[in-house]
Amino acid sequence: MTNLTLARGEDGIAVITWDMPGRSMNVMNDASLGEFAAAVDQALSDPETKGVVITSGKPAFIAGADLDWLEAMLAGTPGDSEEARIRSLFGRFMDVHRLFRRIEAAKKPFVAAINGTALGGGFEVCLACHRRIATDDPRALLGLPETKVGLFPGFGGTQRYLRMLGALDALPVLLEGTSMSPAQALARGLVDEVAPAVELVARAKDWIRSAPAEALVKPWDKPGFIVPGPDPRTLAGVQAFSAANAMQRAKTYGNYPALDAIQSVVYRGMQVPLDTGLRIETKAFARLALDPRARNMVRTQFINLQRTNRLARRPAAVVRRRFARIGVLGAGLMGSGIAHVAARAGIDVVLLDTNEETAGRGLDHIRRQQQSAVERGRAGEAEARAIVARVTPTADYARLAGAELVIEAVFENREVKAEVTRNAEAVLGGDAVFASNTSTLPITGLAQASVRPERFIGLHFFSPVERMPLVEIIRAERTGEEALAWSMDFVRQIGKTPIVVNDSRGFYTSRVFGTYTREAVLMLAEGVRPALIENGGKAAGMPMAPLALSDEVAISLIHQVAVQTAKDLCDKYRPSAADRLIAEMVERQNRPGRRAGKGFYDYPADGPKRLWLGLAQLAPEAAMQPSLDEVKTRYLAIQALEAARCLEENVVTDPADADVGAILGWGFAPWTGGPLSYIDMLGTGRFVELCDRLAQQHGERFVPNPMLRDLGRRRAAIYAERQAAA
Ligand code: NAD
Repeated sequence: MTNLTLARGEDGIAVITWDMPGRSMNVMNDASLGEFAAAVDQALSDPETKGVVITSGKPAFIAGADLDWLEAMLAGTPGDSEEARIRSLFGRFMDVHRLFRRIEAAKKPFVAAINGTALGGGFEVCLACHRRIATDDPRALLGLPETKVGLFPGFGGTQRYLRMLGALDALPVLLEGTSMSPAQALARGLVDEVAPAVELVARAKDWIRSAPAEALVKPWDKPGFIVPGPDPRTLAGVQAFSAANAMQRAKTYGNYPALDAIQSVVYRGMQVPLDTGLRIETKAFARLALDPRARNMVRTQFINLQRTNRLARRPAAVVRRRFARIGVLGAGLMGSGIAHVAARAGIDVVLLDTNEETAGRGLDHIRRQQQSAVERGRAGEAEARAIVARVTPTADYARLAGAELVIEAVFENREVKAEVTRNAEAVLGGDAVFASNTSTLPITGLAQASVRPERFIGLHFFSPVERMPLVEIIRAERTGEEALAWSMDFVRQIGKTPIVVNDSRGFYTSRVFGTYTREAVLMLAEGVRPALIENGGKAAGMPMAPLALSDEVAISLIHQVAVQTAKDLCDKYRPSAADRLIAEMVERQNRPGRRAGKGFYDYPADGPKRLWLGLAQLAPEAAMQPSLDEVKTRYLAIQALEAARCLEENVVTDPADADVGAILGWGFAPWTGGPLSYIDMLGTGRFVELCDRLAQQHGERFVPNPMLRDLGRRRAAIYAERQAAA
């Protein structure tokens, strides 16, 4: 065995320790599962073995499925029919069920000593044990997060959660893919005990020595077992299930096949013995694995996200860098957020603004955030104090000496940005990187103020910085490989995901995202009902309705960007009906957005926001209204098309970056796996036909770009084409 060890002590207790060589985490794949099955069977057949402890030799227990294994399994053998692929998946998963059932039905006690994070299959193996003892480390995560990547737990998780928690408590955690701290898992009864990691194996052995025989029979294997909670065949059960179903649909609009499947396997699983429940789960899983939505989600939100986080596209020749000290210029909304996330990652930060008082306000923001983290139990007092102490507010550029990276987040104004660039570079060391957090100004232009353009780069954070997981790294014309590689190192050090793009107006994320809200304003100008515009956005799977979102971003900011773009592009810029409506909202109606309490919505102090009634005069309703489907399609198609243009123009160079960036950056309909995956899912041929029709009906912004036309003609997929080229 290479991935785990089996050692029986003098006391007759065997310890199976997962410790896969050459990996930072244990994962499930054919090799590790095969060895695990052999170890379990050996312990079961050895008459000297009285009980078994399962643990890990790494800081985490088992992280879940191995990416490459999962990818290959979902892809199936080329040439296999759908039925053959379903049968093969079914067979492999049933093997795992049988293994877990041998553990569960063993006459010998099995205890999971969960010494760290156990997710997905890693937690499902624990659920099959007779007892679970977890580390008391609050950072360890336990749970079944599969729905976050479009799947659902397939190693018995749905059926064991159901029988342990009851349907009504199991459904929300399964549907949301909730991960818990050990203390939370203890409170729910999903683990039996928490203890310091060093004591886990000893405690597990103590329990094994005195385990009563009845603890070796799971409740669901005892005669007369009934799943806790209401029976779906009773009135109360019917009501509870329909309410849960309705709530789920209201949130997700039926876009996620995994969520429908979970509800179905839980409902059906309640009425049958566990072994039948496991077959139901497996059949549903095998079908789901063939659904293109689920496969796209797995590819983007799991496989490619992890590859991106491993910095697969980082220039390999550049030595890795860990940052100890950085500077942030501008202590406003973005600057204080950036300083905060850096300090949280253990980096010293000099936070500079025009005067000490303003810089101090940035530090106050960090202090308040940390106080609230302490109150919510997310941080200890000492940790919070240390984070705040890492940030030095100042107005003195000399304090930047020794900073390895400086990020400017001052006003969105070229002259101001040029001045702070010059001031900072005067004190920076030769290999320090200078980054701009501009949201709209091309980086190559800003780099003209720099005396070392090879060290100048864009680091585009999203608001609120603390919560948003993406950073868009923008390479300007003269940005060097070191600045790029080190910026990627920095983004990972603060726990965020970097995508790398080339310089362009709006870069990648703002450029594509802007088409969503613009399409909504264009529909408004056409006379589409505002409520339909808003519901269409949500039903398409976007996290926020587009007009509400425009209010949040600020209509005045959208206007300002349009004015600046028109100025920069001169006669190449053709104002649209959306530009005119936005200008009208800002300049004549004085409705700049949410902050002012007036935008596309009204924000009464005593109730929820309401669409502004004045829209009826500004954009009278047309007699003919489009269908909800048509509205949804327009939102998804216009964004996907813009993403495809970015790929053709080399703004993004990799489809995975485009899709990961879209989902993490602006929440592009996650069920699609991203805008380019959406095109591939429809098929490039069908997508081109769709765009041609939309162009005819709604304008030339829908005309497909040459790259798409070419792919469409050949019925070739974007991903397959790029992979073949790579
Ligand atoms: P903000 O107005 O909240 O903060 C700007 C800060 O810069 C202020 O504290 C101001 O005092 C300071 N400042 C101005 N001139 C300065 C100078 N010469 N020297 C030092 N400090 C100076 O603005 P913000 O929303 O934090 O935006 C900052 C930058 O980040 C802009 O370039 C913006 O485009 C970009 N950005 C903003 C968002 C967003 O959602 N707000 C998102 C991404 C990027």
